[in-house]
Amino acid sequence: MDIHEYQAKEVLSNFGVAVPQGALAYSPEQAAYRAREMGGDRWVVKAQVHAGGRGKAGGVKVCDSDAEIQAATEGMFGQKLVTHQTGPEGKGIYRVYVEAAVPIDREIYLGFVLDRTSQRVMIVASAEGGMEIEDISAERPDSIVRATVEPAVGLQEFQCREIAFDLGIEPGMVQQMVRTLQGCYRAFTELDATMVEINPLVITGDNRILALDAKMTFDDNALFRHPQISELRDKSQEDPRESRAADRGLSYVGLDGNIGCIVNGAGLAMATMDTIKLAGGEPANFLDIGGGATPERVAKAFRLVMSDKNVQAVLVNIFAGINRCDWVAEGVVQALREVQVDVPVIVRLAGTNVQEGQKILAQSGLPLIRATTLNEAAERAVAAWRSDVNQNPNLRAV
Ligand code: ADP
Ligand code: MG
Repeated sequence: MDIHEYQAKEVLSNFGVAVPQGALAYSPEQAAYRAREMGGDRWVVKAQVHAGGRGKAGGVKVCDSDAEIQAATEGMFGQKLVTHQTGPEGKGIYRVYVEAAVPIDREIYLGFVLDRTSQRVMIVASAEGGMEIEDISAERPDSIVRATVEPAVGLQEFQCREIAFDLGIEPGMVQQMVRTLQGCYRAFTELDATMVEINPLVITGDNRILALDAKMTFDDNALFRHPQISELRDKSQEDPRESRAADRGLSYVGLDGNIGCIVNGAGLAMATMDTIKLAGGEPANFLDIGGGATPERVAKAFRLVMSDKNVQAVLVNIFAGINRCDWVAEGVVQALREVQVDVPVIVRLAGTNVQEGQKILAQSGLPLIRATTLNEAAERAVAAWRSDVNQNPNLRAV
């Protein structure tokens, strides 16, 4: 789960990371009021969306008066902000953060990620702040400083000092850097984050180290341990297909293709998407309906997959181990009677009671396309999607 910049700043400041003064607003009037309340003579208004790259997309504006703030935010609220991280549909702006403008001397990149190779939390930093990490690693790979943390002892002060020296931080400010690094690390581990990114971390004209931007992602599977973090969820920033799936207890990830997938088991779902791609198609989603695919669950899955208007064919791929193919087949038949599905449906069943399952599908009278192997299923799904169906009527045979 992602959270907003202003939320990440509040979380991190509770762990001792210094951030500029700021306040949240839900309307242009409130934004102007917040600035007056805060005082000062220069502010930055920042659209709160779950994506970076806002600066270049017009989502971060410097203002010198409350009238300017009102005008700038009038152009933001209710609009979609499209950045290189949001995809072409953009993300809606419903909250704006008003922050004191800070005199910047230097911008640093700082990230905490899980490094799967070393199975450790890894700190990635660069003196080339302000740029995206992808660009830094492409253009200035030598500027990247890395350190991994030994979990048994946690992040050590000497490691923080080493990072600070490698970044060229003045000796007088090293202690501030140590505090920032340790605060981020503690927030990362204590709150089960999977990513903390501060880009930029700045050194101000008056020698302070401040997090000017903050991004945090949390492990969904650990959210139950952190109710105060779960509360920060903002559904307006999520793919509506994914929020619907989460509410229904299905693991779903929306993609851009046209072949909807209904599969039991995450590994099989991944393999199904790969095979569709191999057959020349594009999956519309990842969907794992779980081990016990009851008729209700299958119907829910069909409803969810069909709510995506891009779906032009549906591939059902079930391996019945604990489950039984005849139950799943009944579920598919029942779902297709309940949910209006006006695209070709390809079903591949394997495992326990497969013959009985096939019989139920065959006797249902529904225009299902059956397949025995996963390859065959993917090829038929791609063919059906390409509407080769008419030229090749055999595909329709049940
Ligand atoms: P994004 O990464 O989404 O573009 P940032 O929060 O990093 O958004 O802001 C973009 C740029 O705007 C920063 O790199 C920084 O130069 C400037 N900026 C952001 N907040 C402030 C602030 N409070 N004071 C001065 N400049 C700021
Ligand atoms: Mg940034």
